[in-house]
Amino acid sequence: MANDQLLKDFMAKVIAKNPGEVEYHQAVEEVAATILPFIEENPKYKTAKILERIGEPERVILFRIPWVDDKGEVQINKGYRIEMNSAIGPYKGGLRFHPTVNLGVLKFLAYEQVFKNSLTTLPMGGGKGGSDFDPKGKSDAEVMRFCQSFMSELFRHIGPNTDVPAGDIGVGGREIGFLFGQYKRLRNEFTGVLTGKGIEWGGSLIRPEATGYGQVYFAEEMLKTRGDSMKGKICTVSGSGNVAQYCTEKATELGAKVVTLSDSQGYIYDPAGINKEKLEYVMWLKNVKRGRISEYAEKYGVEYIAGKRPWEVKCDVALPSATQNEINGDEAKMLLANGCFVVSEGANMPSTPEAIDVYLDAKILYGPGKAANAGGVAVSGLEMAQNSMRFGWTREEVDAKLLQIMKDIHANCIKYGKDEDGWVNYVRGANIGGFVKVADAMLAQGIV
Ligand code: NDP
Repeated sequence: MANDQLLKDFMAKVIAKNPGEVEYHQAVEEVAATILPFIEENPKYKTAKILERIGEPERVILFRIPWVDDKGEVQINKGYRIEMNSAIGPYKGGLRFHPTVNLGVLKFLAYEQVFKNSLTTLPMGGGKGGSDFDPKGKSDAEVMRFCQSFMSELFRHIGPNTDVPAGDIGVGGREIGFLFGQYKRLRNEFTGVLTGKGIEWGGSLIRPEATGYGQVYFAEEMLKTRGDSMKGKICTVSGSGNVAQYCTEKATELGAKVVTLSDSQGYIYDPAGINKEKLEYVMWLKNVKRGRISEYAEKYGVEYIAGKRPWEVKCDVALPSATQNEINGDEAKMLLANGCFVVSEGANMPSTPEAIDVYLDAKILYGPGKAANAGGVAVSGLEMAQNSMRFGWTREEVDAKLLQIMKDIHANCIKYGKDEDGWVNYVRGANIGGFVKVADAMLAQGIV
């Protein structure tokens, strides 16, 4: 059967089984488009229905999160944990607190996580979770009460050898602290059940930096294949949270100039570049004051473009680091028309399928999130290893391991993604590279 028809038939079943979960359909289709032809050539995966099984979560936990706000009013949120695949290790993946969270969004993220975790070379299965809770505008006390209520249910489903959540959008150091405190209280155990912990209580050096640093290391590796580097490159970054901040730091350290940052309300354009001192201000603004990125424009007298995304700004390298589907087909065309030839994704699935087609048709250096943002979960894996050893590595040691992992991921993408003309399709490379290890483990473990 032709590949197009195979994909159509496969997706018709996925959509019928998971109605309305549009982000999930999108993530599965992107993977299936490259894996189905591979499976045709490797029939052992076909008869065992590996791709069909990978798409069905091993377990989905849905729960109620009641809590009381500062006015004494009762609030109710939805809680989720998707335990997607444990073929190569305990479920591992972040928690997202954002009003847009629903089952389909978390299933897409958990699905991506399975392949990403496999690519890191570390023994981690895939999972994801979170809530439709919006931390914006909430007091620290409200966030704490919410986290305690969330963990009062989640604790019975997770553990250092079962499922190890981490942060994601809306879940940073503050939230991980409250969640860990409640887990410890309920279990009476000090154990590596969450990653992204504070350095004084079981965290790993470089974990906060890992996703953004890894995203830039991956861009550098892609550029090396063309004898080029990040030095002197103009970069546009979206988002201004954890990933965007450290992506800006590393890109600047490697000699590039980052000219934009954004949040859900608009973006700032600073043609002089966001240097170390300005980035320190951004970190204070977003992590301590919890303000809006427009305040940067007021402070430094630069342009603030409300209600828009930064992809209209001329750049060599685009580093999307905010959220899913934040670059559409027209924006991708605009990027390329302005000379952009590298896209390295810090966010998960930031490019729509139309945008990805634009990159692949133009044969630019495109690093999909699964590969390019795997540094975060890789260092989470290193945090788990350090917790098990009850010992910690230095900053230099963890950073060196992160760099090596990003190089290994890049090499794996080349192994499965290099075309005859020498161009590397990193989408195919990452999907097949991530798939093979999980699929072989599933074959070995029988029909479970
Ligand atoms: P943060 O919560 O720290 O920051 C998120 C940033 O993205 C904020 O600037 C936020 O703006 C913006 N944003 C969120 N939702 C939207 C939206 N719907 N439209 C426009 N902007 C939005 O999250 P992280 O930095 O941790 O995560 C960013 C991305 O990176 C996500 O896709 C996440 O899944 C991915 N990722 C994160 C990893 C990690 O280690 N943290 C690991 C791998 C991937 P605002 O403040 O206005 O909401």
